[in-house]
Amino acid sequence: MLTIDGAQGEGGGQILRTSLALSALTGTEFEVVNVRANRAKPGLARQHVTAVQAAARVCDATVRGAEVGSRALCFQPRHVRPGHFTLDIGTAGSTSLVLQTILPPLMLAARPSTITLIGGTHNTKAPPYDFLEKAFLPLLARMGPQVGLSLSRPGFYPAGGGQVEARVTPADRLTALELTERGSVRERRARAWLSALPRHIGEREIQVARDALEIPATAAEIREVGQARGPGNAFMVEIETDALTEVFSAIGERGKPAETVAQEAVDDAQAWLAAGAPVGPHLADQLLLPLALAGGGSYRTSAPTLHTRTNVDVIRLFLDVPIRIAPLQGDIWEVRVG
Ligand code: ATP
Repeated sequence: MLTIDGAQGEGGGQILRTSLALSALTGTEFEVVNVRANRAKPGLARQHVTAVQAAARVCDATVRGAEVGSRALCFQPRHVRPGHFTLDIGTAGSTSLVLQTILPPLMLAARPSTITLIGGTHNTKAPPYDFLEKAFLPLLARMGPQVGLSLSRPGFYPAGGGQVEARVTPADRLTALELTERGSVRERRARAWLSALPRHIGEREIQVARDALEIPATAAEIREVGQARGPGNAFMVEIETDALTEVFSAIGERGKPAETVAQEAVDDAQAWLAAGAPVGPHLADQLLLPLALAGGGSYRTSAPTLHTRTNVDVIRLFLDVPIRIAPLQGDIWEVRVG
C-alpha cells in the first residue's frame, strides 16, 4: 500500500483528489496521512468526504477515515463500475472538484456514465463551471473522452444547491496533446453571474472588463439566476485563441466592490495575454493528469505553481511516466510527459 504525505508541497485537497483518481484507475491501494495539513482547517471538509465517497462508489472501494475533520484516510479500490451517480455535497462545496476526482476513472471505463452533482458551481479556489465547460473539457475531448456538461442551476457560497449534469462517453485510451503555440486571439467574452443581487453589479463588472480588454457589447452578458437559493456573484472572462479557450474568473463577496471582482479576473487575463504561453496556471495543473494517463504530450505555460509541482509528485507515485518541467525562454516553461 502506498503511503502519501498530505502535507507535502501545496498540502491541500488536490493531493487527495489526484490520489483517489489514480487509485481507482490503477487499482493501487493507498493511505494518506496529514490530510490538508497546510490549510487553515486541516483534515477532510464536506466536499472532500463527498469526493472520497464518490470515488469509492465508482470503484467499489473499501474506505477508512472518510469523515469530516479526518486527517488520515485509507482507500482500497476494486473495479471501476460506470453507471449513474448522484452526488450531493450537502454544502456549497465545489461540484467541479468532486467531478475532477471521478472523471479520470470514468473517462477510461468500459461504458458511459452520467453524473448529477449538487453543491457549489462557482466557488473561490476551484474551477468554476464555465472553466470546465469552455476551457478544460474541450481539451480533454481532443484526447478522446467526450464529456457533455450542463448547468441546471448555479450554486454559490454559502447557500449552495447548484446542480450540474455530466454525461461521460469514455475512450479506450487517451491521445497525447500538444499545446505549444497560442496563435491569435479570436474572441474575448465576459459573463457576470448574478443570484439575488441587483443587476447593476453585473453591469459594473462588465464595464471594467470591456474597457480593459476591448470586449464588444455583443460578447458581454449578464446571467441572472431564477429562483435563487441565496445571493451570489461570479465574473468570467473568456479568451478564445487558435489553440484553446482560457477562462479567468473571480467570485463576488459581501463588501467587495463589483469593480474589484471584475479587476481580479481582468488582471489574470492580462497576465496570461502578456506571458504568451497557451496554458494558464490553473489549466497547467489540471492537464497534468490526462497527459500522464496518455503517456505523452506537452504544453507551454508560465512558471509552474506549487499546485502543479505537487500534482507531478503525486502522479509519479502512481504512474511510471516521465514528466519534465523546464524553463524555455523568458517566463515560458515547458511541461513534457513521456
Ligand atoms: P483545499 O482542499 O486544500 O481547501 P482545495 O480542495 O480547494 O483546497 P486545492 O488543492 O487548492 O484544492 O486545488 C484547487 C484546484 O482548483 C486546483 O486544481 C486549481 O488549479 C483549481 N482552481 C482554483 N482556482 C481556479 C480558477 N479560478 N479557475 C480554474 N481552476 C481553479
